[in-house]
Amino acid sequence: MPGIQNIASNAWKIFLHILFPRTCFSCGIDLPWNHTPPLCLDCLNKVQRPGPLICQRCGTVLPSGGAHCARCRGNKGKQFKCSSIRSAWLFGPQTQGLIHAFKYQGYSFLAEYLGAYMAKEFARYPELQTVDAVVPVPLHPKKQRARGYNQSLLLAQHFCKQTGLALRPDWVKRHKDTLPQAQLNRQERLENMSGAFVALPLTKGKRVLLIDDVATTGATLEGCAVALKQAGAKQVIAFTLAREP
Ligand SMILES: [Zn+2]
Ligand SMILES: [Zn+2]
Repeated sequence: MPGIQNIASNAWKIFLHILFPRTCFSCGIDLPWNHTPPLCLDCLNKVQRPGPLICQRCGTVLPSGGAHCARCRGNKGKQFKCSSIRSAWLFGPQTQGLIHAFKYQGYSFLAEYLGAYMAKEFARYPELQTVDAVVPVPLHPKKQRARGYNQSLLLAQHFCKQTGLALRPDWVKRHKDTLPQAQLNRQERLENMSGAFVALPLTKGKRVLLIDDVATTGATLEGCAVALKQAGAKQVIAFTLAREP
């Protein structure tokens, strides 16, 4: 009896809505009971996604166009082990509070919506489609214990559920407890991540897609890619929820 099931399910949602009203993670406005996304429609419409004017290697937005940013132009781009970085969103005022809540304030349930959203956006990047396995960027065990979860693993779980790609969370481990990247410049970030990860020999010959929440300079992704390539991975590319412009 699908009709009756629907009525019961809606009644339950309305009941929950009365007990625990949900608000938009960006502007704080009350959300209607039948609105699934964690942002209101107005904020969702303002969220920016990367357009066609991005660096073909690192995904940085290039307002004046061109194939590559200054860092990736010519042979410099070939020195990076992570050959392609793409993202679902551009990090901005609408996504900032949401990602902060997801990452630092215990709102781990957001992974279901965000991972499924990533899966939908993933389809618009043909250059990412040939992968054998999905590997979330690992946290150091100490940090994961303190936070209670690894936000990248949760995203990757829901992303793989939607895309049907194989999830391999144990292929890369973080064995160095690194400094918080936010306080460091680009060069320091790369040095901070150097040798921070180790990959299993199982990755040999495989095309790996790394999943992370936010790409800023790409140093964390590069750290993982170096470890994967050392272990014999054929190709390493990355897809993140958001990209800092
Ligand atoms: Zn809003
Ligand atoms: Zn670039």
